[in-house]
Amino acid sequence: MAGIWVFAENREHTLELLNAGKSLAGDLGAKLAAFASSTQLAQEYIAHGADEVLLLAPLAEDQPLESYVPVIADAARTEDPEVFLIAATPRGKEIAARVAARLNTGLCSDCSGFELDKEKKLLKMDRLFFGGLAVQTVMCTARPQMATIPPRTFDPATEQEGRQGTIKELPPAPSSGVQVLQRTPKTREAVDITEAKIVVCVGRGVAKQEDIALAKELAKVLGGEVACSRPIAEELHWLPEEVYLGISGKKVKPDLYVGIGISGQIQHVTGIRDSKVIFAINRDESAPIFEAADYGIVGDLYKVVPQLIEEFKSALKQ
Ligand SMILES: Cc1cc2nc3c(=O)[nH]c(=O)nc-3n(C[C@H](O)[C@H](O)[C@H](O)COP(=O)(O)OP(=O)(O)OC[C@H]3O[C@@H](n4cnc5c(N)ncnc54)[C@H](O)[C@@H]3O)c2cc1C
Repeated sequence: MAGIWVFAENREHTLELLNAGKSLAGDLGAKLAAFASSTQLAQEYIAHGADEVLLLAPLAEDQPLESYVPVIADAARTEDPEVFLIAATPRGKEIAARVAARLNTGLCSDCSGFELDKEKKLLKMDRLFFGGLAVQTVMCTARPQMATIPPRTFDPATEQEGRQGTIKELPPAPSSGVQVLQRTPKTREAVDITEAKIVVCVGRGVAKQEDIALAKELAKVLGGEVACSRPIAEELHWLPEEVYLGISGKKVKPDLYVGIGISGQIQHVTGIRDSKVIFAINRDESAPIFEAADYGIVGDLYKVVPQLIEEFKSALKQ
């Protein structure tokens, strides 16, 4: 049985995809293979579940990551993998689309989960549809069955002692025909919210920009970071776009998510539903956020949040 392949542009996302691919490989009796850009990473991926590592040759300084597309596509033509999972980062999505086109196969983009139809040996892949209002389940009848998987959809694979695997070197990437003239890093206006263990998220229930200070203070007391719903970042520009959560924003998995004045529309909840604990404050008891929440307070945020800050402060003093 041809293999389950995973590709991501960094270690963290590769480990998540290895975890996603592991059970599939077991169910299909297939090998699990990961792409790596160094022998050190290759060894790590083997220790985390890869049976084989496809080692990519280093790129020249002016070669973009997409230069790997023909190398990956040629390897897929030779090895004929059954399934190919790629991290849904901006670059990953670009590579996935180009590889799928070269292989003339289907691609489920932003796949939020999958299940194996063991009889047909086909993946039933879910993706949100109509802006998150519906779930579309797709199957890809061509090979490989390809999907891009958003970061943090799966936990990283754990290390297993004494695992052995093979490393196969791939040929160098040809020139892509694109010449990079200059690289200007995007200036970061905010922290990487996906790394925060505690997220305090503000929504349109906050009446004025200055009132975000309440959320900031609560976040400070709890040792967390401030995030927001899309309208707060995109329409009102009260917080940077890097910190809005949801289907079109960042997806987070913190230990604690506190939603303040967030209605909890599906497009927002999609980005927070994997939080360990969801706690919501909203004055409308029928707000959808309470359906997703583990704990909630129905009340005016301007009364509840200051009280919480005081309570936490005095509790932390003791
Ligand atoms: C294609 C598409 C993609 C989208 N992607 C995203 C996305 O990624 N992320 C996202 O967040 N949204 C997204 N949206 C928008 C989404 O549908 C909602 O409109 C948005 O999440 C609502 O933001 P909100 O909860 O801040 O505001 P609202 O829906 O206006 O909710 C405000 C809430 O605050 C409560 N409230 C008001 N005053 C108080 C008070 N004093 N005390 C306590 N509670 C109070 C209200 O009861 C209400 O529930 C998307 C929409 C579309 C169509």
